[in-house]
Amino acid sequence: MIQLRNVAKYYPAGFGRTYVLRNINLDIAPGEFVSIMGPSGSGKSTLLHILGLLEEPSEGEYLFEEQPVQKLSEKRRTELHRTQIGFVFQAYHLIDELTVYENIETPLLYKGVGGSERKSRVAELLDRFNIVAKKDLFPAQLSGGQQQLVGIARALAAQPSVIFADEPTGNLHSDQARDIMELFRELNQKDGVTIVQVTHSETNAEYGSRIVRLKDGWLENSGQLTTTL
Ligand code: ADP
Ligand code: ADP
Repeated sequence: MIQLRNVAKYYPAGFGRTYVLRNINLDIAPGEFVSIMGPSGSGKSTLLHILGLLEEPSEGEYLFEEQPVQKLSEKRRTELHRTQIGFVFQAYHLIDELTVYENIETPLLYKGVGGSERKSRVAELLDRFNIVAKKDLFPAQLSGGQQQLVGIARALAAQPSVIFADEPTGNLHSDQARDIMELFRELNQKDGVTIVQVTHSETNAEYGSRIVRLKDGWLENSGQLTTTL
């Protein structure tokens, strides 16, 4: 479902470039649950943003469901983003002015899902995540763990095939973090949603089926760490 071929990302620096990612080759199959780990600054967020179509590679090729992402029109890319991909953020990124219900409904409005189907999908997610009683509250009235449940419900609303999560439990207590990881495991195992998370926590990482480690923009175990440019 995901294939990166010799992907690099760099930013201009003076007369040269600073590479954030180099020579990344990574395949992720449908139904995998992958944890990306590595020290701060090693390129984890950048890699996740490329995978999630939030940023473009500077070099190399990215195939998402066999489609070369760099060749897609802006329209098609936006459509893929809205229909196939869910994003979960460390700081939740809920819309403060919208209620829990409205936050979860937003991706369905963008996707053009009709009124009655929207209602039933939001109701189903509220029920599944045990947040029916919170539906008319605003994000500021919820705990961090509850806000992240809303963030995940919103990411799932459009029924994506893959969820990308950037330190999803980074702001949570360990019991809340465990609940979120168990939810991810269930979504992965029962619903078949592919999950790719960035995490600093070995405990969180072990919920996944594979750990991918980054160091200084290189993927470890790929035989490239010793190469010099
Ligand atoms: P991680 O998520 O592993 O902490 P990031 O992917 O956030 O790493 O960042 C990797 C490196 O890329 C950092 O050194 C960061 O400063 C640099 N970086 C990220 N975005 C930009 C940018 N827009 N311009 C220049 N450098 C950037
Ligand atoms: P961090 O990894 O430091 O927690 P954030 O999660 O705050 O970073 O955001 C990472 C990046 O994603 C930011 O550059 C932000 O502009 C971008 N971003 C945040 N929300 C969205 C969104 N809904 N759609 C597209 N890009 C987003």
